Amino acid sequence: MLTTVPSFDRIGEENAFAVLARATALAGQGRDIINLGIGQPDFATPPHIVEAAVKALRDGHHGYTPATGILPLREGVAADLHRRLGISVSPERVMIVPGGKVTMFMAILMFGEPGAEILYPDPGFPIYRSMIEFTGATPVPIPIREENGFAFSAEETLGLITPRARLLIVNSPANPTGGVTPKQEIDRLAAGLSRHPHVAVLSDEIYGQMTYDGLAHQSLLAYPELRDRLIVLDGWSKTYAMTGWRLGYSVWPEALYDKARKLVVNSFSCTNAPAQYAGLAALEGPQDAVAAMVREFDRRRSLIVDGLNALPGVTAATPKGAFYAFPNIGATGWKAKPLASALLERVGVATIGGPDFGVFGEGYLRFSYANSAENIRRALDRIGSFLEAER
Ligand code: PLP
Repeated sequence: MLTTVPSFDRIGEENAFAVLARATALAGQGRDIINLGIGQPDFATPPHIVEAAVKALRDGHHGYTPATGILPLREGVAADLHRRLGISVSPERVMIVPGGKVTMFMAILMFGEPGAEILYPDPGFPIYRSMIEFTGATPVPIPIREENGFAFSAEETLGLITPRARLLIVNSPANPTGGVTPKQEIDRLAAGLSRHPHVAVLSDEIYGQMTYDGLAHQSLLAYPELRDRLIVLDGWSKTYAMTGWRLGYSVWPEALYDKARKLVVNSFSCTNAPAQYAGLAALEGPQDAVAAMVREFDRRRSLIVDGLNALPGVTAATPKGAFYAFPNIGATGWKAKPLASALLERVGVATIGGPDFGVFGEGYLRFSYANSAENIRRALDRIGSFLEAER
């Protein structure tokens, strides 16, 4: 029996993939499964982006690119940040990576070691905690509370910082809650961080372009005082429906850029070349497909929130961003994971139990509304009948 180093016994995963595998297996047995579990847009990548990748292949872009990405794409990201957020970032600080997760992986590896503390949102994207544990650092959950609109509380977050803290992970708009932390609260957080100069910040802004009700996403890039210790994670997966392309980018402080570049050279060498050309077309081309997708998510958001609130024992806050609803199922009498499992096995609706996103996720289910309105309605009907029958 081979023995790996102990860190590999501590590494976790995303249960969403296990649920997807089970849902696919059930569908393979002929069951009609509605998947509200998986966190990816149900739209195709816009055709002009696909065409740019095909053209890149025809034009002979078959070799390695620079480790940090092709310069036009790094410049394109900088121009896009300026266009969308009015923020100037040098392309020298932008790195192209294969998907949003890679930035998370690199940043946590840079700051995690035994004795270090890393703060992360709970409920939150499960890979944060998994990677923290992998490095041997101590995970410090930041409770993300329903009564606070699933936003970060600056006061509570800052109160968890000790001299051992090395990295703070922020995520807004958030997975799994759909919470968006308002500008005033991000202002407070940024101001409070001036008292903790030893703490680096990883801001996961992958859902930054998916907000509703006129609420704007507040990027941490807007705070020049954080510039020397802020890592921003973003990418194409959600915004342009490109999860399978594996294309993301990070913005690094100058002092960390070369360390990140070396990590790239030591692992994946560079990001897929044709995907980078596609990413450039996405940024430079028309943005109406993004706006149309967000409008459609917005319609489904109302549908799912109203439908969930009509279910016995369920109350759902209205998510302000991303494409997830995170209803409170406490009054159904069910625990979250057994309910998620019963819904999948017995009525063919895939969702994810809140505890898969952290200890503060008990009592909630995550529903992705990246599925058709018709499927959302059918799923809600099935869940309603199930809960009525179980009462
Ligand atoms: N960050 C958050 C909060 C996410 O929800 C996800 C994907 O679900 C990612 C990062 C990873 O994105 P990617 O698929 O580009 O690696």
